Amino acid sequence: MKRILTGDRPTGKLHLGHFVGSLANRVKLQREYECFFIIADLHTLTTKPEQTSSLKENIYQMVLDYLSIGIDPKKATIYIQSQIPEVTELAVIFGNLTTVPRLERMPTLKDVMRDADIKIPSYGLLGYPVLQAADILMVKGELVPVGKDQVSHIEVTREIARDFNRTYEAIFPEPKPLVGEIPTLPGTDGAMKMSKSVGNVINLSDSPEEVEKKVMSMYTDPTRIRVTDPGHIEGNPVFTYLDAFGSESDREQITKYEELYRTGQVGDIEVKKYLVKVLNNFLDPIRKKRTEYANQPELMEKILKEGTEKARTEAQKTLEEVKKAMKLDYFH
Ligand code: ATP
Ligand code: MG
Repeated sequence: MKRILTGDRPTGKLHLGHFVGSLANRVKLQREYECFFIIADLHTLTTKPEQTSSLKENIYQMVLDYLSIGIDPKKATIYIQSQIPEVTELAVIFGNLTTVPRLERMPTLKDVMRDADIKIPSYGLLGYPVLQAADILMVKGELVPVGKDQVSHIEVTREIARDFNRTYEAIFPEPKPLVGEIPTLPGTDGAMKMSKSVGNVINLSDSPEEVEKKVMSMYTDPTRIRVTDPGHIEGNPVFTYLDAFGSESDREQITKYEELYRTGQVGDIEVKKYLVKVLNNFLDPIRKKRTEYANQPELMEKILKEGTEKARTEAQKTLEEVKKAMKLDYFH
């Protein structure tokens, strides 16, 4: 069975952007692939090295997010990056198979520095794609479901795999990214990307009231002053969300609203109220499942412990192979 490796940084709760970018594909593919989902806590150090005290709670919330959207812990291995020391060892080796200018050219570096207000990148931040390559290749992941922003990182992983295979021995696959149906979900403020660090998010765990509050103050079409002005659907996150989260039975009404909006016959408030309904219908079953799992903290701990043990066994196997290929296996 081919393997999927993907994951998230435990910097906060997961949001609708994560869902369309990566989570939906994970749920869809968990029967066809052996899945490894990494909670990348070491990656949070790249932008927030001082905020380690909130990691534990964030990890717990993230596992709840996973389970509540339908990730099946019997099928998927959910594990914590920092508890697998082999991954950092592999990252040290991989650090020699890429160059500093290659990492400086990453488009994500500039974006992350802007969003996190970082003036000069640390060695760790620059090396983010190298550690990620170690995460992916550690379990020989072949498919990586990610949002569009992460595709450039997977390219670095492919290059490192190729370079390793050529230099030592061909032991790694060249993983492929799998981008979701909506490659980048915009934020509630109209920004290109819904992002935890910007705060323009609707979380999978938001209450119906929070959803309503956020939607009613959402960015729409700034060129539209009166209800009778023709409106824009494109670049209007209200319509992007309707399209992404409306169910089959909502389609007809969504098409109607699009037409009315374009021709200046419906106000923002009416469409937003409809979006609140659509989003809450989408989130209700997720909320229900979340409550069920939140009542079983021992189960969550068990899932993480067993997942981490299983991933570590894989990591040890791969590292052994790596050292053998590199002739670093000095003792028998
Ligand atoms: P941060 O701002 O802390 O980096 P983030 O919201 O970008 O948070 P990450 O943990 O960096 O979240 O991303 C996890 C996964 O979710 C990645 O595969 C990323 O591409 C995807 N993702 C995040 N935000 C979006 C979005 N708005 N649209 C589509 N995919 C997204
Ligand atoms: Mg990010």
